[in-house]
Amino acid sequence: MSGLSCAIILEQNGISATIFEKRSMPGDRFVNGETLLHILSRPINKCLDYFSKEFNIRLEPTSVINQLTIYSENKKAIINGDIGYTNIRGRHRDSFENQLAAQVKSHIIYHSEYTLEQLKKEFTHIVLATGDAAYAEKLGNYRRDLTVTIKGATVEGSFKVDNPYAWLNYKFAPKGYAYLIPFSEKEANIVIGYPDYPENKQKNLQELWKEFYEQVCKDISQNLRITDNFEISNYIIGICNQAKLDNIYHVGNNFGCNMPALGFGQFESVLTGVYAAYDLSGIGKYESLTKDLRHSYKNSLVIRRALENMDNNGLDLLVQSIDNWIADKVFDTTMHIDFLSFLSRVLKPFLPIHPR
Ligand SMILES: Cc1cc2nc3c(=O)[nH]c(=O)nc-3n(C[C@H](O)[C@H](O)[C@H](O)COP(=O)(O)OP(=O)(O)OC[C@H]3O[C@@H](n4cnc5c(N)ncnc54)[C@H](O)[C@@H]3O)c2cc1C
Repeated sequence: MSGLSCAIILEQNGISATIFEKRSMPGDRFVNGETLLHILSRPINKCLDYFSKEFNIRLEPTSVINQLTIYSENKKAIINGDIGYTNIRGRHRDSFENQLAAQVKSHIIYHSEYTLEQLKKEFTHIVLATGDAAYAEKLGNYRRDLTVTIKGATVEGSFKVDNPYAWLNYKFAPKGYAYLIPFSEKEANIVIGYPDYPENKQKNLQELWKEFYEQVCKDISQNLRITDNFEISNYIIGICNQAKLDNIYHVGNNFGCNMPALGFGQFESVLTGVYAAYDLSGIGKYESLTKDLRHSYKNSLVIRRALENMDNNGLDLLVQSIDNWIADKVFDTTMHIDFLSFLSRVLKPFLPIHPR
């Protein structure tokens, strides 16, 4: 997402880019549902409107989110309002990657096997948008904070497209979380993700998955049919030390867009792509344009550590406390407070004395 967003803005400024894609087409990977929550992009609320108005980058969501249902082990919260969007990623006609690629005129070289070293010899500037931190780590320009195991499936059932679900239950998502995001009225994605801490590595992913799957079926009173599966191991979450290292721009997950609290990074990925293009076009300085994103990352890491310090009883209390109209207001677009910053300040006293 970051690389294509960058190319769009470069083109708007009269610069043509060459795009190198390792795979055979945009979004050439498993199909999965993702979300954009207004609460996480504050002070910008509706980020897709913002992208369209500010950058002429047009992204159509699968649906708006009007209801978010959150389960902990023993509690349930229903949040209502104008909460965000759901969207599709990967090998799907309407995926965000495909929508962005349709707005790009620059040449895309598929099946690329070029290395960074080779590209450095041929190009004046490189935008590193590989979606993982492998190169950023290789360059010694990255701090890794955690890695994550993710397992997901496409399921068939009956869904309300504007109503995703989340589970904060460490029984099957230890120190992580799980979710269901509908793609349509008949198809959805169910996913668990949790950090690879030593105690979690002892756990059996298949058993955790089985428990999660049964819980989802129970909570939504359906027998879901699994039609596709994916697994990701060692998904790196961290942040680069320098956003621009010599002539290399670190964008998307190479920058540190994947926010540690919940692993969200689409909003930030588009922004880093845009900001790198601004720098290349002489409109601003990448390092200073990305400053706020660094703050968001820092705040998000505080929230992650605080969540990890809780147990299922704490999560029950948390979920119980957000099942009310105040939470509806906080999640809704009518509120403009920078929620990440606010919550990280509230949670700081609850941080572990010896964080990981
Ligand atoms: C399962 C899952 C669920 C998620 N859910 C959410 C969510 O709900 N909300 C949210 O905001 N974020 C979510 N995220 C995070 C979000 O998807 C990422 O932060 C975002 O896609 C990162 O964008 P990017 O531009 O860095 O990389 P990507 O969009 O992943 O693009 C990287 C591209 O680089 C290509 N590539 C890789 N290596 C090379 C190479 N050597 N040469 C050439 N091309 C290469 C890849 O094939 C790919 O096309 C989720 C991530 C995962 C894995």
